[in-house]
This record gives sequence, C-alpha cells and structure tokens, in this order.
Amino acid sequence: MRSGYDFVIAGGGVVGASVAFHLAELSDASVALFDRGEVCGGGTGRSCAIVRSHYSVASNTALTLRSLDVFRDFRGALGEDDVECGFVNSGYLILAGPGAFADRLADNLARQRELGADTSPIGRAEALEVHPWLELEGVAAIGWEPASGYADPVATTRGYVTAARRRGVAVFEHTPVERLRLAPAGGPSMGRVTGVATPGGTVEAGCVVSAVGPWTRGLYAGSGLPDDAIDALRLEVSRHVVLTFGGASPYGPELPIVKDLTVDNKMYFRPADGGVVLVGTGDFGDPLADPDRMTAAAPRDLVALQRAQVGARMPAFKGARLTGSWVGPYDITPDWNPVLGPAPGLPGLYLAYGFSGHGFKLAPAIGRCVAQSLLGEAPDIDLAPYRRERFSEEALLLGAYGVGSIS
Ligand SMILES: Cc1cc2nc3c(=O)[nH]c(=O)nc-3n(C[C@H](O)[C@H](O)[C@H](O)COP(=O)(O)OP(=O)(O)OC[C@H]3O[C@@H](n4cnc5c(N)ncnc54)[C@H](O)[C@@H]3O)c2cc1C
Repeated sequence: MRSGYDFVIAGGGVVGASVAFHLAELSDASVALFDRGEVCGGGTGRSCAIVRSHYSVASNTALTLRSLDVFRDFRGALGEDDVECGFVNSGYLILAGPGAFADRLADNLARQRELGADTSPIGRAEALEVHPWLELEGVAAIGWEPASGYADPVATTRGYVTAARRRGVAVFEHTPVERLRLAPAGGPSMGRVTGVATPGGTVEAGCVVSAVGPWTRGLYAGSGLPDDAIDALRLEVSRHVVLTFGGASPYGPELPIVKDLTVDNKMYFRPADGGVVLVGTGDFGDPLADPDRMTAAAPRDLVALQRAQVGARMPAFKGARLTGSWVGPYDITPDWNPVLGPAPGLPGLYLAYGFSGHGFKLAPAIGRCVAQSLLGEAPDIDLAPYRRERFSEEALLLGAYGVGSIS
C-alpha cells in the first residue's frame, strides 16, 4: 500500500467499483479502493438487479438509459473481453390500478419517451402476449419497456473491479476504512478530510469518496464527527426480504419483470435461477438501527402476503411453495434518491450514498458522472439535483407514486 493516492474510495459495492473504474479510465490519477470485506459484500450482493427506465424524476431516467446501454454491451463499455454482467433482456411491465396512479403512469411514459426511452402504454391483449401467465384484474393502465431486464450484481461489480485493476487501481479487500482523517477545522468547516486510517496504516488522499452505502452513518460516527453532522446525512437503513416461489411448471427466464402498483407494497417479481419467481416489495421494509445486525428470517405474515399477491396476479402461483429467501439493506434518504456531491462542511470528502432499492441500475452512469465531476469535468448528466443540501433547501426529488424506488 502506498502512503497516498489522488483518490481513495471507501466501499467496494457497485457504486464504488464503478467510480473507481471510471476514474482510471478517464485519467492518470492514482486510485485506491477499500472494502472492509470482499467487494460486493454489502447491498449490491443482495440486489435483485432489475434494470428499467421507468422513473418520474427525469435525471433518474437519463442516468438509467445510459446505464442500460452499458448493461447491453458490458464488454464493449468496459473495453474488456472477459467480463460479464449477466444481463437478461426480459422486458419490463408496470401495472397501475384505476385513479391517480394510472394517470401518472401515462404521464410518465410520455415524458420518458421524450427522454429517449423505448417505452409505451399497451393494452391487456398486448400485455398477455408478452406475459401469458398474468391475470390483469384491477389493472387500468400498463406500461411496457422491451429493452429492460435484469443482471447479475456480483458479476457486474467484479467486472468493474477487474477492469479498474487493469487500469492501475489498487484494490484492498478485507481492509476497512476505520475512520476519515481530518485536519483541524477552520471557519464553518469541520475540518478537511486528508485521507483515511486503515489497519495497514494511514493513507493520504487528494479526495476521499465515501461509497459505503448503509454504513455511511457508521463511518461518520467512527471518524468522531458530531451528531448533527450524522443527522444531516438524513439517512435511514431498512431490511428488505426477497422471496422465491416455485409453481407447478418452471417460470421461464424469458418472462418479463412485473412491477405491480395496484398493491400497497408495490410488489415486483421476475424470473430467477431454477425456474422460480423472485418477489420483492417497493415499500420501506423493516427499520434497521445497525446494518450489521440484520436477521435473515422471512416473517410468516410476509410470506403469506406475498404468496397471496403473486397468486392473485399469476393464478399458476396460487398456494405456491416457498423455495428460498434472503435479506438485504436499503439506505434510504427522505426522497429515496441518492446523495451525490461534495460533503457540506467537510472539504476533501465526496458523498455517494442513499441509493435505497434502485442504485444497481444507476451505478454505471453514476460512476462515470461522479468520476467526471471529481476530475473537474462537466458530467454527462448534471448531478447537482442530487446534492445533499436539497434536503434543507426543500428541493426533494420526489417521485410520482409516493415514496419508493420508482422515484
Ligand atoms: C434486496 C435488494 C434488492 C434490490 N433490488 C434492486 C433492483 O432490482 N434494481 C436496482 O437498481 N437496485 C436494487 N437494489 C438496490 C441496489 O442493489 C443498491 O442501491 C446498490 O447495490 C448500492 O450499492 P452501493 O455500492 O452504494 O452499496 P453497497 O453495495 O452496500 O456497498 C457498500 C460497501 O461498503 C463496504 N463498507 C462498509 N463500511 C466500510 C468501511 N468502513 N470501509 C470499507 N468498506 C466498507 C461494504 O462492505 C460494502 O461492500 C436492491 C437492494 C436490495 C438490498
């Protein structure tokens, strides 16, 4: 390990890995990436990795369209012929019940088309053509994205890390950033961040990028930052349970992803390995004080609810057997959108956290835009809307369907 780097990145999830790759791709800067465990050991490794463009915040759609191009040609985008992202182009259906959500869905589809998304409203017959297993009771509006799909989050992140290493990034696994190193404060500043402390010694940095997701509050606390600085992150963490169900016949990988806005928990489902259907929810989940104390249990009432909801939407899954489950952490800000930008009051620190349940699909484009910003270039897509100050400026990036990942 060298004594210093131009950029030190804390956190080797898909966001940190993408930022590391793009910094090395775009510049000759020296870059080091640290993860306390193996890369992809956080939320990314638990992700359902759905890649769709349906959002109501325009910059989210713009970012995801850029990312979708990367997922569709991962090797070309990374300039490597032996990396994989496992993208499956299944398509994506979004269903809304009668009333406000149906109107907002129609409105969103029109606005996304203006931004270049391949998406359109379709009728029941067309929906049943692409997904014959569906029962469309209670559905008043349907959106269809033929180009969307899902990927392999671990392969994607490892692909970025491999490509970053080949461009000179020093990757340190099992090496936690124990704390941010702070120079004495001056003026309104809490002190300049000059580097990080690790078990292998201190590492100086021109800039530290914090990409530790659900562990961001812990990194601040461990660095001795005051409670008001930690509270100003406006970050909550929750536990999300993903279930898989098996039916009488295998659920094929060619079937589209379905997002169901007709149910309160905004359920989504997609095919998964082994011919099962994977089911998750778009609600807050269970509040979690410490992301390291996440129980793996799938509550019985949740299993019963999801079995009933999936069975109602796909009668072939009525009374389906539970075949598996896992849990993962969401890092949630007040508007469910990420914070990207210099840390207020802490020069030398750049923040990238708060991706809640939708950061995987944004990461390729965000990694490039963050790297461009760090290098003093104009990013392809303006990241100013994601500044942390938006929380105190009442400039929240609110979604059309209320709080949740489709924001
Ligand atoms: C169940 C679930 C389903 C999801 N489904 C989707 C989906 O379908 N589509 C989608 O787009 N998004 C989805 N998401 C969200 C998406 O996966 C996340 O937003 C994204 O992966 C976050 O990446 P990250 O790099 O910010 O954080 P993480 O992947 O959590 O990475 C943070 C890293 O920081 C490391 N770390 C922590 N503390 C330290 C320290 N002190 N020093 C060094 N390293 C440290 C951790 O080990 C970890 O590897 C889902 C998330 C979950 C949990």
